[in-house]
Amino acid sequence: MNNKFDHIESIYWVFTQLCNDKCDHCYNLSGPQGARITEKDCLDIIQHLPSSADRIILSGGEPLAEKKKLYLILDALKEKYGTSAQLMLQTNGDLLNGEILDILIEKGVTRFDIASIDRYHKAAGGRLEELAKLFESRGVNGDEKDPLVRKENYLHSFPLSWGYWGATEDMWLGGNWARGRAMTKKIWKKDPDHNFCAILSGAIGFLNGGENIPQEISIQLWKINPCCPGTKEPLGDARVDDVSDVLERVSKSPVFQQLDKGNPYAMGESIGITEAHARKRCSELKNVCLWCDEFFEHHFDIKSLRGKKKAKTSN
Ligand code: SF4
Ligand code: SF4
Repeated sequence: MNNKFDHIESIYWVFTQLCNDKCDHCYNLSGPQGARITEKDCLDIIQHLPSSADRIILSGGEPLAEKKKLYLILDALKEKYGTSAQLMLQTNGDLLNGEILDILIEKGVTRFDIASIDRYHKAAGGRLEELAKLFESRGVNGDEKDPLVRKENYLHSFPLSWGYWGATEDMWLGGNWARGRAMTKKIWKKDPDHNFCAILSGAIGFLNGGENIPQEISIQLWKINPCCPGTKEPLGDARVDDVSDVLERVSKSPVFQQLDKGNPYAMGESIGITEAHARKRCSELKNVCLWCDEFFEHHFDIKSLRGKKKAKTSN
């Protein structure tokens, strides 16, 4: 092992932003014209993943909109990890049928999450019953609805299972991240006191995990991020950088140590940006991730891990 990040508990990988749907709340601008990467990029990224992982969640966009690429990725992941990493698929379920489900199971997917059971998606949850029958016909257990949060549900055994959920006004999947189409459609959550960073999908635990929350990073296409919303610039490029080296590098920075605690309000303290200033800007910008964008744009350089200029706070 080169460093402690040669093992990661959870990797969330959006390998495509191509999607059959085009939801208003989509945080990464997925849709029929969504961004894609090449098959070579995908294989290069897999080469640069840590040598050990507990689970890998393949997501999009809609992974089944790029079925050939998905199958290639699954084969490469199986070759790299054998059966030691749980392979999970997050899908809107629209394109799933019996033939595809059989192939996915054969290629090693053991967990299916239908992330579209809500009013925002085109099918508005209308396929749920049909999908339930499909999973049942293949012996896929539907009793474990929520394995994404609790470690004991995924870290030690991989029974075939599926679950479903969707966006709500309040939840982390809601029309609320200040990103992508949610931003352009002006349905992002304007609540300065809501700290996305401190909940699953935020940066909390991305270096050290937590008692109940997995140590999870997100890779958006090739961009290595501490969270799903994504920092203003990525931490690294998984096509060319070893993910474990990138995490080792940022783990030394007090800024990222605060993000690991889910505390973007204090991330500038080591360079003289006070928490009081951060809270003031959050309240003006109305969203903690927009404060984070401002911080990395004006105060801190992600590449050199240094402050951009002499710290200056106005409160
Ligand atoms: S929210 Fe999901 S289903 Fe909707 S456009 Fe985005 S990736 Fe596609
Ligand atoms: S505050 Fe920054 S690091 Fe935290 S979830 Fe938002 S964008 Fe990610």
